[in-house]
Amino acid sequence: MAIQSQNPATGEIVKSYDPHTDKQVDESIAKSVSAFRELRLWSFEKRAKHMRRAADIIRAEAETLGEIVTLEMGKTLQSAIGEVKKCAIGAEYYADTAAAHMADEIVETNASRSYRAYQPIGPVLAVMPWNYPIWQVVRFAAPALMAGNTGLLKHASNVPQCALYIEDIFRRAGFPDGSFQTLLIGGSKVERVLRDDRVKAATLTGSEPAGASVASICGEEIKPTVLELGGSDAFIVMPSADIEKAVSVGITARNQNNGQSCIAGKRFIIHEDIYDDFRARFKQATEALKTGDPMDEATDIGPLVNAASREEIIGQVQSAVRDGATLVTGGTGKDGPGYFFRPGILENIPKGSKAFHEEIFGPVAALYKVSNLDEAIELANDSPFGLGSSVWTNDENEQSQAIRDLEAGATFINAMTASDPRLPFGGIKKSGYGRELSAEGIRAFCNVKTVFVA
Ligand code: NAP
Repeated sequence: MAIQSQNPATGEIVKSYDPHTDKQVDESIAKSVSAFRELRLWSFEKRAKHMRRAADIIRAEAETLGEIVTLEMGKTLQSAIGEVKKCAIGAEYYADTAAAHMADEIVETNASRSYRAYQPIGPVLAVMPWNYPIWQVVRFAAPALMAGNTGLLKHASNVPQCALYIEDIFRRAGFPDGSFQTLLIGGSKVERVLRDDRVKAATLTGSEPAGASVASICGEEIKPTVLELGGSDAFIVMPSADIEKAVSVGITARNQNNGQSCIAGKRFIIHEDIYDDFRARFKQATEALKTGDPMDEATDIGPLVNAASREEIIGQVQSAVRDGATLVTGGTGKDGPGYFFRPGILENIPKGSKAFHEEIFGPVAALYKVSNLDEAIELANDSPFGLGSSVWTNDENEQSQAIRDLEAGATFINAMTASDPRLPFGGIKKSGYGRELSAEGIRAFCNVKTVFVA
């Protein structure tokens, strides 16, 4: 895949880059090792000072960086700036909490002193996707650097400007030279980096095939991995819920980020007593969404990321209809330049069909009707994925049952699934394993050393 920025709103190739040669990659890995030797010895206080500087740079340059994001992957400028600002919060969260998360934990034994110590392990490769091109990276980079590890970023090939900008932020923030570097390489060059003994671990956010490939190579190399993969999150609405709010949040959940979010509400599982009401309001709100220029403040939905992605989503909608689903609205491409798409709604998707099980990575909601919560949970769990879930009910028994029985890495009650630096984030089943953010995120690539002093 060529390493280039293409504006999804126009199709224009904005910038192209020569991929890094094997020699350049080797030099970057060597620099990462040298930076690790220095960074691991820095105090938490010193790391935090530089991480706060990174947060200040991010906040001060949010508009410039937001524009780059919009021009490279097509989300609305407002949401791009929001994403960038969230990165400053994430960086500050780890500046504030790393020392506590990584503090020695005393364990009483027959030793005079015994404890658990969290120690960094070295350079970690991060393979990242384009959909949240800054946040996905910073939520790896901030805990990695605060733990004393160094980072090598292989970003998606369509967001090289974002990738280089992030490298520059950590350089300007004053971390040791080489602490966080971008490798401009395609997916086929990842194996060579993973097999390098100097690289100690890997994290991948992206699709199932990419995750399986990285995990199997790391399995052979006996290296730890964290995988954040796809999702087809359930959004369950029961009769006791505030329907108006559920519709409005559901519209955001499905269509945020131009519908290209791993934790988007994708399957709307609605109780039969409120189905017609929910469907009518949801349809009206979907049709009211303004698709257009992502730089325009009035726009709700910008273009999809590229032509191939749009073709794939149109194909998924058509295949669902061929299998017996009903297209309630939208679900088609728009003429003209750019990769615009009308947000859509499918219903009556037959159980067992392709559309019933696969992730639609674009603004198409799937509606399902159920007669009780047991049925809703059974349908929600009948998915290869288990990332997030969102349940709308004011009945406490139903809330407890959903929290207990939904097979997902997160259950949000009367709220939209979202990532928050203070809470762990990740999935089960084909959505991956391991956790980012919170204490789990910083400990993911640490040696949990047992210390015993007789
Ligand atoms: P993708 O094709 O897997 O790309 C993600 C990254 O993996 C890119 O850097 C890509 O590089 C690289 N890659 C692709 N194939 C690879 C391989 N065989 N070996 C090593 N690296 C490889 O994913 P996508 O389709 O762009 O992203 C959308 C997917 O990511 C969706 O399924 C979405 O749900 C998921 N996602 C999950 C989370 C989460 O936190 N769970 C968050 C965001 C997105 P190139 O660009 O060079 O191909």
